[in-house]
Order: sequence, then structure tokens, then C-alpha cells
Amino acid sequence: MLTIRDLSKTYANGVHALAGVSLDIPQGMFGLLGPNGAGKSSLMRTLATLQDADGGSATLEDGKGGTIDVLRDRDAVRRQLGYLPQDFGVYPKVSAIELLEHFAILKGLTAKGPRKEVVEGLLAQVNLWEVRKRKLGTFSGGMRQRFGIAQALLGDPRLVIVDEPTAGLDPEERNRFLNLLAEISERVAVILSTHIVEDVTDLCPTMAILNRGQVLLSGRPVDAIDAL
Ligand code: ADP
Ligand code: ADP
Repeated sequence: MLTIRDLSKTYANGVHALAGVSLDIPQGMFGLLGPNGAGKSSLMRTLATLQDADGGSATLEDGKGGTIDVLRDRDAVRRQLGYLPQDFGVYPKVSAIELLEHFAILKGLTAKGPRKEVVEGLLAQVNLWEVRKRKLGTFSGGMRQRFGIAQALLGDPRLVIVDEPTAGLDPEERNRFLNLLAEISERVAVILSTHIVEDVTDLCPTMAILNRGQVLLSGRPVDAIDAL
């Protein structure tokens, strides 16, 4: 699905956030585990085309037998990719349905009828249908994160990148959120970045551990745990 080779990024302050990262990310749910400062967000932002890498490559399958050069063909990547950033913020004074509609317009869903269908379908999918008219400021952390997933799924992406989504959620909301991700990963490839070991061992068939900008190991969670 996504092939990453020798990706590197050094910030202006001299920090080597990515020091030659190579990964093969399959369909389904892929866990990217690492402590704070490991380089997870740097990798996610690079894949989401929000930041440049210094070197290396990333190649995304386009679903039609071809590939997309992630580091160069940004428009094509953005059509195939959904992103829930770690610091996803919402406008507290608008309702879920209003803001999702707004994101849908930004995504280019201009025809009103189809847009309504997509927006309503997504709100139902993430179990926010009942609360769609409530202001986002009244949402719990889990509800906000599920709204973030609805936003990331706009435009029917083939890959969704989710950065530290369970930080700050209580256990019930965390389970609910992870189950939703697992459900989605049956149709869309998901990369879950997290510092919580159980997020990965519970749900991800394949994973990698990132530390100091380098991949320590990758494979199945059981193999990784054996190796540690
Ligand atoms: P993680 O998401 O795993 O916590 P990050 O990618 O956020 O890791 O950070 C990796 C390293 O790069 C850390 O040492 C962090 O302080 C540094 N870093 C991240 N973003 C920047 C930035 N914009 N400028 C300078 N250093 C940064
Ligand atoms: P949380 O409110 O923290 O999301 P709950 O288990 O109380 O957790 O909520 C489960 C679901 O019920 C929510 O995701 C939401 O869809 C719906 N819900 C929560 N609070 C309300 C509310 N005040 N009015 C209507 N629906 C609600």
C-alpha cells in the first residue's frame, strides 16, 4: 500500500527527527509505536504532505495499478489520504454537522445533494448522528476524535493517518475509538501512531517501533514483543 525508503528529516535546530526510515505498510491497520520525540508526528506530517523531507522516498499505490510519489505529487496524495492530526482543533461554537459540511466543501464536494448524503453518512458511521446538531464545544474528547475521523474520511481516501488519537481519552472512549478504527480499517488502510503499547498490540496486525528517528523493528506485534 505504502512503501517508505530511507526517509530523513533534520530540523533547523539540528534534531534528526527522521534518520533513514524505511517501512512497508500494508492494507488494514498498521501501528506506529514510539515514545514521545521518536519522530512519529514528523513522519505523519511528511506523509500527509504538510512538511518536506530532506531525502528518501515514499510511494503510495493508487488503487489502479499505478503509484503516487508522496513527496512530489502532493495533490494526488491529498486526494487519496485522510489525516487526523494530533492537535486537531474544532470550532467550539458550531455544530458537528455544520463543521463537517464546511470541511466537505473545502474537499471539493460542491453539489449540495451528494454532499449532504456524504456528511450524514459519515456522522452515522462514527456514531455521532444523535449529537450532530450539538455544538462541538460540548463534545467529550472521544466524541471530538470520532468527529476527527469523519473529517478524515471525507473524499473517500484509501489511506487514513491518525496521530496519537487516544491520548487523553478515558478507557471506555479509547475502546470505542479503537473499535471504530478497526472497523474502518476493513475498507481503508489506517496508520495509527501512538505511544501506548496496548493500542497497537490489541488491534494492529502489523506494526513498527520508532525510536530517535529510526525503525527499531517491524512486523507482527507478537514478534515485536518477543524481540523486546
Ligand atoms: P513524536 O511524534 O514521536 O513525539 P516528533 O516527530 O514530534 O516525535 O518529534 C521528533 C523530534 O523532533 C523531537 O526531538 C522533537 O522535539 C523534534 N521536533 C519536532 N518538530 C519540530 C520542529 N518543528 N522543529 C524542531 N524540532 C522539532
Ligand atoms: P461520551 O458522551 O463521553 O461520548 P457516552 O458513552 O456518554 O460517552 O456517549 C455515547 C454516545 O452517545 C456518544 O458518542 C454520542 O453519540 C451519544 N451521546 C453522548 N452524550 C449525548 C447527549 N448529551 N445527547 C445525545 N447523545 C449523546
